[in-house]
Amino acid sequence: MIANAADSVEPAVEAVLERVCLEGGYPLARAYVHLASIGEESQSSVWLLHRAYRSGGDMRTDSEIMQQPGPPAEGPAGEALRLGAAVWRSRYDASALGIPDLGKRACVCALPIFHNETAVGVLEFFGSAPCARDEDWVEALTDIASQLGHLVGRVRAQMRALRQQAGLARMSRVASMREVAGSLAHEVNQPLAAIVNYSGGALHLLEQGRADDEKLARVLDQVRIQAKRASGIIQDLRELLRHNDGRQDRLDLNQLIQRTADLLETTARDAGVKLRLELEENLPEIVGDDIQLQQVLINLVVNAIEAMDHSCAGRDVLISTRAGEQIEVVVSDRGPGMHDELLAKLFTPFFSTKPHGLGIGLSISRSIVEFHGGRLSGANNPDQGMSFRIRLPRVTNCPHA
Ligand code: ADP
Repeated sequence: MIANAADSVEPAVEAVLERVCLEGGYPLARAYVHLASIGEESQSSVWLLHRAYRSGGDMRTDSEIMQQPGPPAEGPAGEALRLGAAVWRSRYDASALGIPDLGKRACVCALPIFHNETAVGVLEFFGSAPCARDEDWVEALTDIASQLGHLVGRVRAQMRALRQQAGLARMSRVASMREVAGSLAHEVNQPLAAIVNYSGGALHLLEQGRADDEKLARVLDQVRIQAKRASGIIQDLRELLRHNDGRQDRLDLNQLIQRTADLLETTARDAGVKLRLELEENLPEIVGDDIQLQQVLINLVVNAIEAMDHSCAGRDVLISTRAGEQIEVVVSDRGPGMHDELLAKLFTPFFSTKPHGLGIGLSISRSIVEFHGGRLSGANNPDQGMSFRIRLPRVTNCPHA
């Protein structure tokens, strides 16, 4: 039961407590699990109490989680925590713990639950009749306590990974923003310079008394076009910075690639690299978040540009699309590729061979693609350079939509 509880502690704990009450063999029984709040890494200040009762044929679990200000200090549970070992009471006054129905002649077994040698909980069992220490029962409960400890560890590791992933996503956004901001500064400068030129020319015409309405209208129209271009570029930047949490829009990947190529044109040109597109016509739509997928493309293209130094022959990056069972995007370069032993680390967070690399672009990109139900892989080309392949599911149309 516990082994199958993939990522949630509560249902597993409730099911286990019910079993413990039944298997204990007493007509009246109670089983408790006191657990340190799962989100806490250290000895937590908030503890939760899960309970199950058996009264004859009546079985009840109480998943109403009661918050306790700290680990249990009283009774057998407190003692088990202090000792770090199983505590058995053959005859115990349970009414002292506010459990009057069990009476003064209960038996109790309490065991600490450990994770990484830290006590993260206590498993407690109360039976309604006195009983000498039963080693088989202690052994069974010890096994359950140890499995609960593993489960707590597993869920905590998942939570840590999620937290790390969120942190990585933020860092990656900043990293790719650095690339894009440089490119955008160039991009915005061009229309602004054009506006300065056009308006300077118009002033000149006016000063010389050579300005007729038609000439002025043409110049003003150019100023308007250039101002719109600059505002479009700033809008793109806004979109990229916008907080977003995974939209599910229908997307035309070819358009997205075109926009990304426009965005990175200056970066590529400054590096002496040509961006080439081979986009399949009438590419089926996909569903996803355009900003996130653009971030993946930016990471792949910037990596490809950075991989090609001036010694590379035919310095171009090819972005191609193809529709098969899935939609495929391939970003391919003519750089040196990677040694086979390094290829295995390609998607490992913080793996980088660049002097100032963060080494998170590819791991984030893979997470984003997988979040979209797809796969991202990278391999050396047979002749020269590397290709990164994104495969995304096609949209299946609902017949009633
Ligand atoms: P960073 O770019 O910060 O190093 P990435 O996760 O984007 O982090 O990439 C990790 C590493 O993968 C890079 O440092 C580089 O060694 C390798 N790599 C990525 N793309 C390519 C490519 N197109 N050609 C060769 N090596 C690459």
